[in-house]
Amino acid sequence: MSSHPVDPSDLLGLGKRYWLPVYRPRDVVLDHGKGARVWDTEGRDYMDFGAGIAVNALGHQDPDLVAALVAQANKLWHASNVFYSEPPLRLAQELVDHAPFAERVFLCNSGAEANEAAIKLVRKWAASQGRTPEERVIVTFKGSFHGRTLATVTATAQPKYQEGYEPLPAGFRYVPFNDPVALEEAFAQGGVAAVMLEPLQGEGGVMPAAPGFLKKVRELCDEHDALMVLDEIQCGMGRTGMLFAHSHDHVTPDIVTLAKALGGGFPIGAMLAGPKVAEVMQFGSHGTTFGGNPMAAAVARVALAKIASPAVLLNVERQSNDIRKGLDKLNHEFQLFSEVRGRGLMLGAVLESSYKGRAGEILDIAAAHGLLILQAGPDVLRIVPPLTITDEEVAEGLERLHATLAEFAQEAKVA
Ligand SMILES: *Cc1c(COP(=O)(O)O)cnc(C)c1O
Repeated sequence: MSSHPVDPSDLLGLGKRYWLPVYRPRDVVLDHGKGARVWDTEGRDYMDFGAGIAVNALGHQDPDLVAALVAQANKLWHASNVFYSEPPLRLAQELVDHAPFAERVFLCNSGAEANEAAIKLVRKWAASQGRTPEERVIVTFKGSFHGRTLATVTATAQPKYQEGYEPLPAGFRYVPFNDPVALEEAFAQGGVAAVMLEPLQGEGGVMPAAPGFLKKVRELCDEHDALMVLDEIQCGMGRTGMLFAHSHDHVTPDIVTLAKALGGGFPIGAMLAGPKVAEVMQFGSHGTTFGGNPMAAAVARVALAKIASPAVLLNVERQSNDIRKGLDKLNHEFQLFSEVRGRGLMLGAVLESSYKGRAGEILDIAAAHGLLILQAGPDVLRIVPPLTITDEEVAEGLERLHATLAEFAQEAKVA
């Protein structure tokens, strides 16, 4: 197959021929977007309930993000960590201003890099305390997702992401999510330097931490002198209706990682470090060429200010209620979901057991009906629209979801 020439007008053919086949995108080539709507190269429009995997938090073509990017593009594209530039300096201060738990910020380019930095910081902290390498264990949870680098994929306690990449780095211990007794047992085995978790698991099925679980994690960490690391790469940045997801639970983490929505669609990641760890990494202990790039930081400053505004956060609440109501109504008609869970604009509709494994099929049908939605594993439909989605856009998306589910239910009946 790879020796055949490809017609250059056949964009899908180019992807199939030249990309490392690690993805299975829908057969749609997106061209441009506005608000919560996107258009493909054929001119068809789609309602975007996926926001590029919870990234385009302010929708497409947000005028303030565009202006920030263009203004910075006309000034300075890159400075490296050898010299300062203004946008990442200001962004770091603004992040700390919004994060009462944080003192310092490390800027990078992606979620995996932010988590990689967090893992390294935990180990460096443990080392600075005189702990041996065996005493630097990081506890993570089944169903978690922390990224694709070797260390972050090892933190990701899901075998499907790890298979074939062994030998994996040592120093991780897995525990069932929302199981305080199992967590106590993991601590009892000794050597725990940190617990790392998503306050609301994304890839693992839109699974929220149970009420009180984050508090329990914090208590156990304090009791055993371990760090609490929160991966808010997907659930942070306003997604749950507060800037940080853990704020709902009134806990104070030691380290928080951000990425996805932080740049509103421009790649950037950040690790926020609290007082216990802010001084642990010193000159030369970590770095990145592109991290804190002025273009990314200029956009992220505007994204942060807008996402943290009451107007956006209140809209998350409002549209969340409407989408939940819409999902309940659809379920009343089609009985496809056993549960709708999540928080704010990070919602998961769990397929009934008789439809298990078929989320991907529903995504295909949805795309044909002009709706982009995501799955979180094979059994959960994931809805993570722009945080600025309007009443009309929600209504239209739900209409298209109705058409999608009607077709799926019909096919399921025939099959
Ligand atoms: C997406 C995601 C990551 C990885 O981010 P990348 O930018 O893809 O490296 C890590 N943790 C969580 C919770 C995520 O959702």
